[in-house]
Amino acid sequence: MQLPTHLILGIFLQELLSGLIPNTILRVLLIIIICFISHFFVDAFAILTYHPPERENTKVWEYWHIFIYVSGIIIFILFFNPYWLGMLSAYIPDLWDWFFLRPLSKRKNKPELYDKYGIHFIADAIRRPLIRLGVPNLIYNEYGILPELIFISLVIIVKISTINLSL
Ligand SMILES: [Zn+2]
Repeated sequence: MQLPTHLILGIFLQELLSGLIPNTILRVLLIIIICFISHFFVDAFAILTYHPPERENTKVWEYWHIFIYVSGIIIFILFFNPYWLGMLSAYIPDLWDWFFLRPLSKRKNKPELYDKYGIHFIADAIRRPLIRLGVPNLIYNEYGILPELIFISLVIIVKISTINLSL
């Protein structure tokens, strides 16, 4: 799944753990670890959404990715205080693999760097039994944007409406 979905899960998990664990150091540690792990489960379930691994030359792909990054930035700003830690921890695997390791291995012309240090194989390992269990695979189906689009929009709308109420 995509940036906003990872951020939203980071927010929910941080909120949940903050309510459960009074000890600050333990709470911070668990927020980092559990939000980080959540990334791989979210990615494994991405088969339920439109998520082609490579760029597609369609308008849907283009507008969908503009929506993803704009809504991701809106969510990050709206929820930054106090949820930056949960959001960041939930997004670290993409920062590491797609924004650091891949460009680095391309620049150095060493594709084996990704094979050696990439961490998305964990999501692949969780995804395989899901596919075997018959979970529908919508990765190339453009209608797969609908559930994720509704979910992301609802979170943003609810947050903005509560901001207005508290003014
Ligand atoms: Zn990912």
